[in-house]
Amino acid sequence: KEKQLRESQKLEAVGMLAGGIAHEFNNLLQIILSYTQFGLDATRPGEPLHEDMKCIFKAGERATSLTRQLLGFSRRKPLCCVDLDVNDVVAELVGLAKPLLGSRITLRQELHPTSAMVHADSVELQQALLNCCINSRDAMDGTGQLTLSTELVELNEAYCRRDDVLRPGPFVRISITDTGSGMPPEVVERVFEPFFTTKEVGSGTGLGMAMVYGLVKQHQGHIEVQSEVGVGTTFRIYLPAVKACETTQPISQPVTDRVQDAGGSI
Ligand code: ADP
Repeated sequence: KEKQLRESQKLEAVGMLAGGIAHEFNNLLQIILSYTQFGLDATRPGEPLHEDMKCIFKAGERATSLTRQLLGFSRRKPLCCVDLDVNDVVAELVGLAKPLLGSRITLRQELHPTSAMVHADSVELQQALLNCCINSRDAMDGTGQLTLSTELVELNEAYCRRDDVLRPGPFVRISITDTGSGMPPEVVERVFEPFFTTKEVGSGTGLGMAMVYGLVKQHQGHIEVQSEVGVGTTFRIYLPAVKACETTQPISQPVTDRVQDAGGSI
């Protein structure tokens, strides 16, 4: 619980910081980028000045993408939640993710046979799932298998005790499983922390999973991660199911011993 509190305080602080400066910063970046573009147009490829300006442009684009993520993260616009079928969101995501994964990563879907309805913001949910898929791709080093699955589960009192906002009842569970590098416990421990990244400077912002965590919490949901070095990783996202739907699996215990949720080790 204490860790969860620290996590949400950090999220709030980062959100405020992001909301306050990212927007202004982004405007300044656009000015830098457009003047750099003038310079690029006025010089020829291969000229030293042109190549230098290309570097400025690339760095500017990277900074733009970082501020965009920060803006999304601070979420100044309210969520737009509707009743939606998670199966549809996942099916659409598959189309989006395929070109990002390359031809040697196979993508499987295992969707719950009937609709899996939740009250959620479809754009944000898809972005969150895409963040997970991108991390899986990065962890798989070109080859492997990514599985997206949906199930209906029933969380009982004992399961919900670990989390202040969780209430027992039917949930849709979305699992993202990869056969990637996996994470050692010290990375699993910090995976939802804003700005935590193990990627090279310039390629990771450390905001992807913090965004996922924030979004899941905004939907009164829950997220857990199970990972083993050399084997792979599964993220499980639980969102409250909107209709009294037929449930398939009563859940009172984590699936394995090595499950970590953002509220601390269980
Ligand atoms: P970023 O991807 O920018 O580093 P994230 O918040 O998305 O930021 O992820 C934080 C870190 O968590 C990553 O740098 C990586 O070490 C680890 N991680 C997240 N997802 C996975 C995964 N599926 N497999 C292995 N490591 C992962």
